Amino acid sequence: MRKKIVAGNWKMHKNAEQTEELLNELIAKIPAQTTAQVIVAPTFVNLQAAVAKLKNTTIAVSAQNVHQAEGGAFTGEISADMLTSIGVKTVILGHSERRAIFHETDALIANKVDTALKHDLTVIFCFGEELKDRQSDNHFNIVENQLRDGLFHIAKESWANVVLAYEPVWAIGTGETASPEQAQDMHEFIRETVRKAFGAQIADQVSILYGGSVKPDNAKEIFGKPDVDGGLIGGAALKADDFLAIVTAI
Ligand code: PEP
Repeated sequence: MRKKIVAGNWKMHKNAEQTEELLNELIAKIPAQTTAQVIVAPTFVNLQAAVAKLKNTTIAVSAQNVHQAEGGAFTGEISADMLTSIGVKTVILGHSERRAIFHETDALIANKVDTALKHDLTVIFCFGEELKDRQSDNHFNIVENQLRDGLFHIAKESWANVVLAYEPVWAIGTGETASPEQAQDMHEFIRETVRKAFGAQIADQVSILYGGSVKPDNAKEIFGKPDVDGGLIGGAALKADDFLAIVTAI
């Protein structure tokens, strides 16, 4: 059975006090036993507090980024060792905002993937096409290239620490969602692409999350598709009740 996962990407939201408030609400509301592994990704400065607060719960903590170098003169950056030293076990890489706003290329993301895996971090690898790619019917090519260039260099054994997150850029933070059929078509294609490159066992085991305006009212239908193993949630992860509704939709 593939692992079901619902991860909340908090982006640059929630100061220390607000982080504590939201975590308290999640701890109170999210049942101890859930079908999905629940993950939250607060900002760097609130990771240590989140790890401490969630210590005896089933909710895991992820970082939103990591630097590719082991350490050194990289003002303002955070290393993989720093993350693992405070108990963080997961990192989101390749998010479309990192790609578009911070100019992260597939090659750079590939380096970050290597560093994260070397430190035993689980990587939530994000990728997805822009609207122009879908309109020009190039979306499958784009997605395949992002996978090949950013991720497919890893060893077979490393797939145990990889989660895929298909996030069509045109659906992120826009209120626009891929239809459940569009999500399923792409997820099936992604699984096939993994199957061709790495074999059936890895393809059947890897969790593929959908991200892009998942809300309480559309989560159930999207999660109902056979190749959708959960979601990476942005806006709706910032309200405990909405996030809880998405977690229970699975
Ligand atoms: C995201 O940024 O990963 C995301 C899916 O955002 P939203 O749910 O707000 O579209």
